Amino acid sequence: MLKLSYDLHIHSCLSPCGDEDMTPANIVGMSSLKNLDVIAVTDHNSCKNCAVVLKLAEQAGIIALPGMELCTMEEVHVLCLFAELEDAMRFDAFVSEQLMKIPNNEKAFGKQEICDEEDHIIGTEPYLLINATNISFDNLGKLMKEFKGIHIPAHMDKNSNSVLSNLGFISPDADFLVAELADITRLEELSKRNPYLKQCNIITDSDAHELGNINEAINYLYCESRNKEAILKALVRRVDIS
Ligand SMILES: [Zn+2]
Ligand SMILES: [Zn+2]
Repeated sequence: MLKLSYDLHIHSCLSPCGDEDMTPANIVGMSSLKNLDVIAVTDHNSCKNCAVVLKLAEQAGIIALPGMELCTMEEVHVLCLFAELEDAMRFDAFVSEQLMKIPNNEKAFGKQEICDEEDHIIGTEPYLLINATNISFDNLGKLMKEFKGIHIPAHMDKNSNSVLSNLGFISPDADFLVAELADITRLEELSKRNPYLKQCNIITDSDAHELGNINEAINYLYCESRNKEAILKALVRRVDIS
C-alpha cells in the first residue's frame, strides 16, 4: 500500500470567497512546497479551473483530482470528486443548469476568475456560484454513478452548510461511503450520535481559501497505486465494522 498525503478541499479564485491569489499555478506551487501527493480543487458549483490545475499538477508530480464543492437544494455542501476530467466537466455543465441564475456582485461576494496556466485571467463566471442548486442531497448517490464520481459530505461537524446542521441527521438510506470532518478529533463524539459514520472513511481537509491555509502533509490515504482511480477506490473502500 502506498501512503499518500492529501488535501482534497481547496478553493481557487473561481470561488467568490477564494482569495485572488488562489490561482491554479499558485495552488500547485504551494501544494508542492507542502509536499502534498494528492490535491483536489473544489470550487463552489464549478469545475472550470480544474483542467489547468490538473495540467500544472501533473508537471509538478502531484496528482490532482478534478472536483467541485456542490451546494445542494438543502444548502448542504458536498465534495464531488472524479477520476476523469471529462466526467467532471460533464457534471459541471449539468450543475450550471441547476444553479440559480443570479448575477454575481463582485463587490459584495468577490470575483469568480477562470485562469490559464500562466495565471492570466481568461474569463469570469457571471452567475453567483455560492447559491444552492436544484440537486437534492438524497439524489447524489445516483447522480455520481451516472457521472462516475464520488460524493463526500463536506465539513460534517460544522454548524452551517453540513448534513448534520441542515438536515439534522443522517438518513438510514444514506449512501455515502466517505465523509469529511473539519475537526477530526470530533469523530468519536459524532460517531456516537451518528453511528452511520462508523462505516465511513473519514477524511479531513483544509477547505483553504487562502494559499497559506493549504494543508501540510499531515493527512494520509492508503492506496494500491499512485493514480486517480486508485485514490477514488481507496476513498470509498468499505470499512470493516464487524
Ligand atoms: Zn463548504
Ligand atoms: Zn469549501
